[in-house]
Amino acid sequence: MLDLAIIGGGPAGLTAGLYATRGGLENVTMFEKGLPGGQITQSSEIENYPGQLEVVTGMDLMEKWPEQCQKFGLKHDMSEVSNVTKKDEIFTLTLGSGDKIESKTVLIATGSVPKPAGIKGEKEFFGKGVSTCATCDGFFYKDKDVAVLGGGDTAVEEAIFLANICKTVYIIHRRDEFRASPHEVEKMNKFDNIIQVMSHTTEEIIGDAMGVIGVVVKDKNTQETKTLDVLGAFIFVGRDVLNQTLIQEDGSFLCDVNPSGEVIVDLNMKTSVDGLFAAGDIRINAPKQVVCAAGDGATAGIGAISYLQ
Ligand code: FAD
Ligand code: NAP
Repeated sequence: MLDLAIIGGGPAGLTAGLYATRGGLENVTMFEKGLPGGQITQSSEIENYPGQLEVVTGMDLMEKWPEQCQKFGLKHDMSEVSNVTKKDEIFTLTLGSGDKIESKTVLIATGSVPKPAGIKGEKEFFGKGVSTCATCDGFFYKDKDVAVLGGGDTAVEEAIFLANICKTVYIIHRRDEFRASPHEVEKMNKFDNIIQVMSHTTEEIIGDAMGVIGVVVKDKNTQETKTLDVLGAFIFVGRDVLNQTLIQEDGSFLCDVNPSGEVIVDLNMKTSVDGLFAAGDIRINAPKQVVCAAGDGATAGIGAISYLQ
């Protein structure tokens, strides 16, 4: 029987593990289906983590977090959790393998995944020119032309990353102004090889047996369409929360969620179910920042200790 089961090993889960173990809980396991670190390990450049003066990659930022947690006794089980239920004050986690684990408290910190744009050709050419990770795939397009879809911080940041590798980067956004912060947009404006295709929708990603060969865009003002000849299409149109583990047999959620599926918590990261906490990108009103996810994790870790006491 665990004291605390943490589902997800991103900044929120790892920080909860640190606070819970260092705060005295002995039986704490973090279930992380991959390597710990979370989605930030896909980022090419972090410059807003407090105290981190040099600009680093997400991988570098997260490198030491698991080691620090293990020092205080956090265990990492490299398993996917498929489901969580609660009965008579005890939570049961079902792992992908079918194994069942019992725990007195649970933290859900499963974060989010890239949202598909829903464009024709997106699924067909995924992995064959369509990507959601510039750090992972950017190098394949060295000195080639690529497109970036989206207008948020991720799209703008990753367009800049790609501009340092690729010949031309077309950033296609459906409105006439970016959602990204002015600071990021200002940085992007300095790149001559980033072409901003504003007020255009992406109609289709086209390709052949070798992969992507172009992106068809439509001007929202004139309705004219044109094809941008690119070999890569990087899609950054937001993220969906990963809440499937909370779905019960009857289709309801274990705890209250909002219409977008984000878990409703109070300021202590408590959900509507006693002993169940949520932290990081999965919770309502998450600012979707590493520092905030870590802060949530600390709050939840402390909360789990109080609950058990
Ligand atoms: P995540 O980091 O998403 O971690 C969740 C973890 O849970 C993942 O490792 C996943 O494998 C695991 N998991 C999911 N489901 C299961 C399951 N069923 N079983 C087991 N494990 C599971 N923030 C900033 O502050 N500054 C930035 O510059 C910045 N840049 C970004 C750039 C990019 C490209 C992206 C994608 C995000 C960026 N962010 C940035 C946002 C930041 O990464 C997130 O806000 C933060 O990582 C959220 O942390 P989290 O722990 O809630 O979730
Ligand atoms: P986001 O802020 O939700 O932006 C998504 C963008 O994609 C928006 O511009 C949106 O257009 C567009 N879009 C959505 N669906 C689309 C579709 N079907 N087709 C075409 N375009 C579509 O997502 P994000 O950029 O991934 O950022 C997520 C969060 O992480 C944000 O809170 C962000 O601030 C944070 N983040 C922070 C940093 C940083 O601090 N440096 C870096 C990365 C991410 P509209 O604008 O028209 O809605």
